[in-house]
Amino acid sequence: QNPVVKADADTVAAVVASGERTEPLPEIVDFDAYRAAGGYRLFETVCEGACSGESIITALEAAGLRGLGGAGFPSARKWRSVMAQPAPRNMAVNIDEGEPGTFKDRHYLGSDPHRFIEGMLIAARVVGVAAIWIYIRDEYPALRHMLNTELDKVRAAWPDLPPIEVRRGAGAYVCGEESGMIESIEGKRGMPRLRPPYVAEVGVLGRPTLVHNPETLWWVRGIVEYSQQGKDWLDGRGRNGRKGLRSFSVSGRVALPGVVVTDAGITLRQLIDEHCGGMLPGHDLYGYFPGGASGGILPASLADVPLDFDTLAPYGCFIGSAAIVVFSQHDKARLLAENAMHFFAHESCGQCTPCRVGTDKAARLMAAPEWDAGLLGELGQAMMDASICGLGQAAPNPMRSVLRFFPHEVGAPVTTEKEGAQ
Ligand code: SF4
Repeated sequence: QNPVVKADADTVAAVVASGERTEPLPEIVDFDAYRAAGGYRLFETVCEGACSGESIITALEAAGLRGLGGAGFPSARKWRSVMAQPAPRNMAVNIDEGEPGTFKDRHYLGSDPHRFIEGMLIAARVVGVAAIWIYIRDEYPALRHMLNTELDKVRAAWPDLPPIEVRRGAGAYVCGEESGMIESIEGKRGMPRLRPPYVAEVGVLGRPTLVHNPETLWWVRGIVEYSQQGKDWLDGRGRNGRKGLRSFSVSGRVALPGVVVTDAGITLRQLIDEHCGGMLPGHDLYGYFPGGASGGILPASLADVPLDFDTLAPYGCFIGSAAIVVFSQHDKARLLAENAMHFFAHESCGQCTPCRVGTDKAARLMAAPEWDAGLLGELGQAMMDASICGLGQAAPNPMRSVLRFFPHEVGAPVTTEKEGAQ
């Protein structure tokens, strides 16, 4: 077990002096404690050439590490595609963590930040990165101060690192979209780009860019060290036919909300019963968001579906960053969906019509006591088909879920399809 230490006095003073909204100060494994527990040894062996980049990528490939910011893109394939591009290459770490209900990145950074930093430095070294930007949401001021303090210690230990710049987000959800984040890093409005070209080809300052979520990088050291010992770090983990571990941010009507790291493929019912102390007294499970506001809504009757990448597509949902929001008979799915649509309308960057107009129009239509299922269905399809980025494409998901699984709340025709059948 790594020792846990309090954030140092400088961090406390910096947060107080800044006058920013404060948050609980993180208790972290600091640089000295992390080093004492063998931290940065792997990074040093990579720098010394004793551990090849290829062996690192092979270990990530074998472990099946995927992007944990929501998209789930295979990490090893991402590293290889950026490496195939001409130098100089850049790197951007996306700590915008703006998906409603998601707080796992905060948990990892606020407890063991150097494990993330070491993963980031290993990735930068293997891929041949010339400069790194860490984009962190402005709502995490204490984390940002802590990160700057700890990065200074890392720079002092290895003066030849590529430049690492910590950038503050400014509260825009759309800057969690990778190309929107890159626009913001470049000092422009955070408006997502049309692709291709992909950010692996043309990213920060026009250079090929490796973009990663911090949790993905957090796992790198553990995966590689296990692999070097001839062990599979995922051995025996995963259930219901899935393999590996997943970090769930669980909130809502459960007794013990929080970050749960457990088997990929666990079901909601198992998650609540085994890790969250059951439902709150007086609350019965009615439904849940499996992937934050954008991942759709599932009813209680689908609480036994394995939660993992790819398992929720038959229900028109996705797990994304695994933000599980549980609601009960005291809540209304339609109000949650309306709230989500207002959120998307507010956060739309406005550059494409299906999203800018569609989210606003849908929010107004959803305020009616009875929903026009045909019109909302058409509108949602147009948004999914023609929006530039994931915000507009995913915005209709909660609304579509209500029409499909909670039609009694909105006077919509009850579908005769069996739940789950496409
Ligand atoms: Fe902007 Fe929405 Fe279009 Fe994305 S889908 S580019 S957020 S208007």
